[in-house]
Amino acid sequence: YQGFAGRSTNEVLQLYSAHGQQQKLQRSSVVTQLHGAIKKRLKQDLKSLHSFALELSKDFQHQSTTYLYQVLTAIQEIQLQNEAMQMFQIKAFDLEQSLQEVTERYEKEKQKRRALHNSLVELRGNIRVHCRIRPLLPFDTAAGHSIPQDRQRNFSEEVAYAADDETVLVKCSRPGHASINKTFQFERVYNASESQDTVFADVAPLLTSLLDGYNVCIMAYGQTGSGKTYTMLGPELEENFAFSLEDELELGIIPRATQEVFRLISEKPPGSHWVEVSVVEVYNNEIFDLLAKDSCGKVFGIKRDVVTTREGKADVPLLTHETVENASEFLHLVNKGLQLRVRHPTLVHAHSSRSHLVVTLTITTIVSEDNFGTSWEDEQTSQRLNKEVSCTFPHKRRDSKSTSSSRASSPAQLEATERLKQVKTRLQLVDLAGSECVGMSGVTGAALRETSFINRSLSALADVLGAIAEQRSHIPYRNSKLTHLLQDSLGGDAKLLVMLCISPDQKYLTESMQSLGFGTRARQVQRGQVKKKNLPVPSKAK
Ligand code: ADP
Ligand code: MG
Repeated sequence: YQGFAGRSTNEVLQLYSAHGQQQKLQRSSVVTQLHGAIKKRLKQDLKSLHSFALELSKDFQHQSTTYLYQVLTAIQEIQLQNEAMQMFQIKAFDLEQSLQEVTERYEKEKQKRRALHNSLVELRGNIRVHCRIRPLLPFDTAAGHSIPQDRQRNFSEEVAYAADDETVLVKCSRPGHASINKTFQFERVYNASESQDTVFADVAPLLTSLLDGYNVCIMAYGQTGSGKTYTMLGPELEENFAFSLEDELELGIIPRATQEVFRLISEKPPGSHWVEVSVVEVYNNEIFDLLAKDSCGKVFGIKRDVVTTREGKADVPLLTHETVENASEFLHLVNKGLQLRVRHPTLVHAHSSRSHLVVTLTITTIVSEDNFGTSWEDEQTSQRLNKEVSCTFPHKRRDSKSTSSSRASSPAQLEATERLKQVKTRLQLVDLAGSECVGMSGVTGAALRETSFINRSLSALADVLGAIAEQRSHIPYRNSKLTHLLQDSLGGDAKLLVMLCISPDQKYLTESMQSLGFGTRARQVQRGQVKKKNLPVPSKAK
């Protein structure tokens, strides 16, 4: 049994080991199979991965080439655009430069033309006529009751135009009337859109002449409502007629001229010039001093007279002259004077002025006697001015009411060691009364008297200009107070600027034609060649 058992144990062991071996064999073959399968699979995966990577890199290569190409094209385009831009910039710069050159040349040509033009005017005499056509305004449409039935229309129609800056064209055809197509030439024509500034720019050179020793007169001529006051002073303020320096853009010739005079004086030696103002009105052929004050200091108009001095100059004895030191002081005075201005509402334009307003700036220049006479190039001028010299220093000013100030210009403060003389030049700024015909205004009685005085003084003005034109020995200055008062700014070598004011509407055709006729006649005034004169060297106040 023990043997049997031993044998069977061995067998079992053998069997067991055989079984183990068999299992081992089996396992190893499975492992081998598995290994083979995995290997195969791995190989396949690796292969597909490889081909995928290959494809990917191909794709990447392709794409990057495309992008690179695109980037290159973009860069090229940018370069091209840059070049084009540079070309444009060069072109723009060139154009800008040539534009600047052309503008400069144009400005030079314009200045040359103006200078030539001015010499021409100088040769023609000293009267220049400018014409300003105002815009159509709402009150042109509202048919005036004053206008005769056949001329009444309830719509506006422009008949007067600025054809260019020297020509006025009047063009009108009405049924039953001969048609009009006429041009008028003046030194300068302003259209309705031209500003106060533009108008003044042409006036300013005259003020240089003023400080060069010439008397200057600027007057606005035209019917009521044609823009005389607007041109001379500025838009009228109904309540208080006060003009102020604040409405700078709208300011007319009078305030601007004063500013310019003070500016020009500021360039001269301090204390060598001073300015006095008088404001008068010529109403019904009588002169009223609008700056005269009563004993309480209240302003009221006093009647004055104009006389001819022994030297043949016009003078208004006792006329109030106020010294002013700047434009705002001046304007304050003018506003005071204006409040007194006699007004009569005609039917053409409510509150129309029925009087001539004459604002005079007297500029006194102090010149050393040693300089005097030699510094004026023109012998005649020197002689003329010698006569005008009122006195030698020390001198008391005529207007004791003038505000005493600390100005060095006060003659009393000048030492009389050097012999000094005063030269007076005058700037007269005139807002004439309306030039309309009597029938036009529809006035009767006292107003009719007013109108006939206005018409007479304006025709006296035309006569004076005519007499000067014909170089007659007798100039009828004394036929009216207006011409007598303006005598020194109309005759001699004074410079006169007539600013014709025109309403463009058809219903004012007659008046416009009359004004244009007046201006045309005034332009024909010949006063012989006027020599240029040099400034005397103003003496310095000590
Ligand atoms: P006048 O003094 O000749 O009677 P105004 O100067 O009083 O005329 O002008 C009449 C009206 O026309 C005013 O209301 C004025 O403001 C206006 N006016 C005149 N000229 C012009 C212009 N150039 N531009 C605008 N308004 C103007
Ligand atoms: Mg007026």
